[in-house]
Amino acid sequence: MSIEAVYQRNEHHRGSKSGWLRAAVLGANDGLVSNASLLIGVAAAGRTSFLPVAGLAGITAGAMSMAVGEYISVQSQADIEASDRQMEIEHLAEDPEGELEELTQIYVERGLPRELAEKVAQTFTEKDVLAAHLRDELGHFDNNKAQPSKAAFASAVSFALGATVPLIGALVGSTATKVTLIIVFAFVGLFGTGVISSKLAGSPMRRTVLRVLIGGGIGMAITAGIGSLIPA
Ligand SMILES: [Zn+2]
Repeated sequence: MSIEAVYQRNEHHRGSKSGWLRAAVLGANDGLVSNASLLIGVAAAGRTSFLPVAGLAGITAGAMSMAVGEYISVQSQADIEASDRQMEIEHLAEDPEGELEELTQIYVERGLPRELAEKVAQTFTEKDVLAAHLRDELGHFDNNKAQPSKAAFASAVSFALGATVPLIGALVGSTATKVTLIIVFAFVGLFGTGVISSKLAGSPMRRTVLRVLIGGGIGMAITAGIGSLIPA
């Protein structure tokens, strides 16, 4: 097995175990950056009295939009899986011989000698033919099954949590320190999500954290720039 293949296998393993956790970290990241950007924009435009209501609106709107977006995307994934499954059931009914050969070929391509591949395909076909095709041909596993409601809920909650962090910064600071505190709170939060995502992905921590911080920093800088252009 090549290094890439081992890496991908591990990735897949981590992915299937912590899919919702990864979605939660992404949601928190989005919440941190988008609400911090919004608040910096409002503060930079000199409208500090609007910060609490802007922050709350940002949390609500973002969480709703995350939930809807995540639900639609995961649901369409689930639809694709369901129609693939239906197609496979039809193929198995129409051409069981061809499907057995197809399964055998899959095992040959994965490195089994022809004779052994035939035996494996035959055994799985007798045991549970649909399960074998779904798993080895289409890559469907029970532990990576698309779950739209769960994904939508995890994204909305994590977005709201992330988005609350810069709002706290906006509420505790004096008029002079608000912008600084929003940025500081947002960067501390981003540092946290960067550390967690590097642990989840098994990627190098410094690079992942830097990427998260720089990405978030650019987002906030652009919004702050736009906010400062609006006459107070
Ligand atoms: Zn098949």
